[in-house]
Amino acid sequence: MAKILDGKAVSQRIKDELKVEVENLKKEGKTVGLAVIIVGDNPASRIYVNNKKKACEQLGIHSEEFALPAETTEEELKALVEKLNNDSSIDGILVQLPLPKHINEEAVINTISAKKDVDAFHPSNVGKIMIGNYDFLPCTPAGVMELIAESGISVEGKNCVVVGRSNIVGKPQAMLLLQKNGTVTICHSRTKDLAAVTREADILVAAVGVPELIKGDMIKEGAVVIDVGMNRLPDKKLVGDVDFAECEKKAAAITPVPGGVGPMTIAMLMKNTVKAATLK
Ligand code: NDP
Repeated sequence: MAKILDGKAVSQRIKDELKVEVENLKKEGKTVGLAVIIVGDNPASRIYVNNKKKACEQLGIHSEEFALPAETTEEELKALVEKLNNDSSIDGILVQLPLPKHINEEAVINTISAKKDVDAFHPSNVGKIMIGNYDFLPCTPAGVMELIAESGISVEGKNCVVVGRSNIVGKPQAMLLLQKNGTVTICHSRTKDLAAVTREADILVAAVGVPELIKGDMIKEGAVVIDVGMNRLPDKKLVGDVDFAECEKKAAAITPVPGGVGPMTIAMLMKNTVKAATLK
């Protein structure tokens, strides 16, 4: 049976440390503030935003929510971002994705000040990650790396396979594994014989968005399996991109869904927000 990588427990430890940092900043007269913008009424986005607000409350971070109607124009949204860029009580700005189809996400992200870009999606922050000299890391891949490190798993020299090449998870995840001296392969929807590649992985990260795509016969005996996926089934059950029941029997370590990567993502958002306040 695999060791369960408990993202809930690790993220709580990180948040406890951050709470102390926030208190210390307050003693120096510095507040920490996060602005969260949500456009429209996507139920999953609403849950994510509520969780982020709850984490801010726990840590003593001031959070402001801007819930805008689905009809909001790109110009209106960009104007709000500009206003928050110039608001000294706000250290981090988060625009919850996805945005309604009529809004160009890239254009909005480019409007966020790189210094307040706590999601690390701005091109200048993405470029810094490539170089390896960064202030902020994107929350989900950073959370995966912390969880791996906290669990005493070394990446160096390991065959790492990332399934998924999105800008927010797959690509930066591969880069972070590379920076830790993993030998990295990235798979995507055009990869031929996915199972043949995933079976070679010592560390497998699934960030696909296809429920339980990774089956037991697609992993190596003793692999570390990290499941980024969060998929809501028609019966409302939340499952990852990994078939947990099958893979748990073969893996050395595995993340559960929920309670694995999800809470780590929020902890990393809090970490970036505190860092933004420290750097200001
Ligand atoms: P995207 O849809 O942006 O990217 C999915 C990637 O998976 C694409 O690169 C796509 O390939 C690839 N893919 C799709 N189908 C297959 C397949 N059959 N075989 C191999 N590759 C495939 O998703 P995200 O990266 O944004 O998210 C991935 C998952 O992670 C989702 O379930 C999402 O909900 C979850 N997530 C969880 C977070 C957390 O905090 N736990 C945070 C962010 C996301 P191609 O590029 O060729 O289309």
